[in-house]
Amino acid sequence: MEYDIAIIGAGAAGIETALAACRAGLKTVLISDLPVGGRTAYADMVPARIWKETGRLIQESFNLTGILPFEYRPSLREVKSSIEAAGDDWSVQEQRELAKNGVTIIEGSAQVTGIQTITVSFQGEKKQKLSARFIVAATGTSYSIIPGITVDGKRIIYPKQFKSLSDYPETVLILGGGCSACEYASALSDLLVEVTLLCEGDQILPGLDRQIAEEVQHELQARGIVIELNHPVISAELRGKSVVAVQAGERTFTAHVAMICMNRTHDYSFLAENMPLFSDQSGGNIAIDPYGRTSIPWLFLVGSLIGDDSLSQARSSARRAVGAIAAELASELPRPVDSCTIPMLISTNPPAGMIGTIPSCNAKVLHYYYSQLPLTRIRQIAGHLKLWVGLTGKIEAAALFGEGAEELFAVISLAMNAGISYGDLSSIPLCSPSVSELLSHPPMKVEMLL
Ligand SMILES: Cc1cc2nc3c(=O)[nH]c(=O)nc-3n(C[C@H](O)[C@H](O)[C@H](O)COP(=O)(O)OP(=O)(O)OC[C@H]3O[C@@H](n4cnc5c(N)ncnc54)[C@H](O)[C@@H]3O)c2cc1C
Repeated sequence: MEYDIAIIGAGAAGIETALAACRAGLKTVLISDLPVGGRTAYADMVPARIWKETGRLIQESFNLTGILPFEYRPSLREVKSSIEAAGDDWSVQEQRELAKNGVTIIEGSAQVTGIQTITVSFQGEKKQKLSARFIVAATGTSYSIIPGITVDGKRIIYPKQFKSLSDYPETVLILGGGCSACEYASALSDLLVEVTLLCEGDQILPGLDRQIAEEVQHELQARGIVIELNHPVISAELRGKSVVAVQAGERTFTAHVAMICMNRTHDYSFLAENMPLFSDQSGGNIAIDPYGRTSIPWLFLVGSLIGDDSLSQARSSARRAVGAIAAELASELPRPVDSCTIPMLISTNPPAGMIGTIPSCNAKVLHYYYSQLPLTRIRQIAGHLKLWVGLTGKIEAAALFGEGAEELFAVISLAMNAGISYGDLSSIPLCSPSVSELLSHPPMKVEMLL
């Protein structure tokens, strides 16, 4: 075998798999059709963060100076350059780390074409075959085709295509109500674009505590974003200079641009058509165990491909897979999977998030409001933290909306994963002035879940 491990896809999950494999002493090759960094650097996280930060700066400058926010808005070309520079920077840093650890990188499109065999195609016809004892697919997700919506890349677009517009549109329809949809709605509205969010379900941000999701919704609406719930969009098409989206029930919405933030699906195109089907496919997904093992003993899946849809989750599944591979090579059993709890953070302005599983009974719900904080006398900030504390004093879940959510989540997830009780956490003095200080105050409201 040429390699111990071959990884397809150099996004967050593929990079982490490669680093963990090299550190475990395995001969590793990483193959990617995009520059290292993948969609994280060039399509998803990094661009979304630049949009958000640009919008936030415009609003903050306006709040500080009162000068019309339009005066501060950089041209789309400037934002595009920032996004490209940040993506390249991210990619360069990751490449350095991979090189330092001895990972071989091949740029091309990989397909599993036989047992422990990958065929890499480069632009044009040139192909290369390589073999590895283990293959790890970290190919992420891509947008699936939605019947009734034809994405033209010009006015009916995916988020990554926003930067290809020649100027800011006056109005945008965002199709979807999940994290990306709300993040882009928040950022574009801060960038002075009129936004309408068309959401299929009865709340934005499914997966988030309903009360907190409604608070995010009210904040977005207060900033002028129109939110339409309960109506899936069934078609979007160009009519003259407008895009017209039609929701079930024939309601129509018109704007200059429609952005599709829904229907991402796993990307299995790395499997050649001649490969045998997996014995245990369920609902169109390849079944895996907690280590990412499939029914094919040498094939593992990691990252957003298996629904681990944040960088920390992707890294976690990558490490588990490499641990199992290293154990198998050493004829040992893999270490038991740790049940680490990772927060979901939604980068609206201000951010929202959720961690853990909300218990249905035998818990207290503690409500904290930032208005109690000494920090609020220095800075005008507001927020709402909900903690679910079990009978044993263990924090079971947290949901929050407000500035500094990242900071609070870091503290709370550390406590949850280290088994620190709510009582011990709230008695620890935290640095001042910080949002985490909130935890050393008594909650403003307590509810019992019996
Ligand atoms: C708008 C947006 C904002 C986000 N913000 C955050 C955030 O703030 N924090 C966070 O933690 N997460 C965020 N995420 C999620 C995060 O981007 C994903 O969790 C992460 O990108 C998943 O990494 P991955 O490696 O699994 O997949 P990807 O990044 O999609 O990488 C997969 C790579 O594999 C390549 N590939 C696919 N098929 C092949 C093939 N056959 N041959 C070779 N290469 C192939 C792809 O081109 C790609 O480069 C965001 C996502 C979106 C959409």
